[in-house]
Amino acid sequence: MNPSRPGQRRRSGIGLTSARVRDRLADSLRDRGIRSAEVLEQIRRTPRHLFIEEALERYAYNDNALPIGSGQTISQPYVVALMTQALLMEEDGRMRRPAKVLEVGCGSGYQTAILAPLVRSVYSIERIGSLLAEARPLLAELGCNNVRFRHGDGMLGWPGQAPFDGILVAAASAAVPQALLDQLAPGGRIVIPLGDHSRQELVRIERGESGDVRESLAQVAFVPLLPGQG
Ligand code: SAH
Repeated sequence: MNPSRPGQRRRSGIGLTSARVRDRLADSLRDRGIRSAEVLEQIRRTPRHLFIEEALERYAYNDNALPIGSGQTISQPYVVALMTQALLMEEDGRMRRPAKVLEVGCGSGYQTAILAPLVRSVYSIERIGSLLAEARPLLAELGCNNVRFRHGDGMLGWPGQAPFDGILVAAASAAVPQALLDQLAPGGRIVIPLGDHSRQELVRIERGESGDVRESLAQVAFVPLLPGQG
C-alpha cells in the first residue's frame, strides 16, 4: 500500500459500516424525492468519507455540506443527487448519457465521482490547485478514468472541448456566465445555482429548438463562483 494515497490507506478501516450508512443515506434521498435509481446507486457506491478529512469522517454520511479546506465545502449529498438527476433524467424517468459534461468547481471531487459513471466523459475545472491535487488521484483510485481535469477559471468554460451536452456548476453566480451558454450544445442542459452570496435558486436551463427553457429546482446555498485561479 502506498501511504501517499490517502483514500487507499483509509478505506480498509471503515469496513461494512459505511456500506450500511450509505444505503441509509440513499434511502433518505429517495424519501426526499430523488427518483433516479441510477443516481441513488451512485450515492450507495461512492465512499464520501474519502473526500473529506479524517477528523470529519463520522459526518460523511449525514446529508450536509462539510468544509474541505481553502474556505470551500463538499456539496450536500441531496444537492449532488438533485443536480445529477436534473442534468441526466428525462421527464419519463429515462436517463440520458451525454458524451461530454463540463463540471465547474471540482472541489473534493465527490460530485465528479457521482457523475462520471453515468456519462461518457467529464471535463472538470477547479480554480484552487490544492483541491485539485487531492481530488485527481482519489478519483483515479476510485476508477473514474473518464475525467479530464483543468486548473483554471471555469467561468470561461473549456473552449477546446466545447460544445458540451451538459454543464454542471457547483458554485453560485448572479447570472450564467456567457462563455458557458456559448459552449452548450443543442439539446444540452446547464444546472447552476443563481443568486447572491447567502442564498440561491438551483436552476436548470435546457437548450430547446425554440430557445432556452429555464426551470427552478430548489433553494440552495453554495460558495460563490469566483474569477481567476485561487
Ligand atoms: N462539487 C464539489 C463542490 C465544491 S464547492 C464537491 O462536492 O466537493 C465549489 C468549488 O467551486 C470550490 O472548490 C471552488 O474553488 C470552485 N470554484 C469557484 N469558482 C470557480 C471557478 N470560476 N472555476 C472553477 N472552480 C471554481
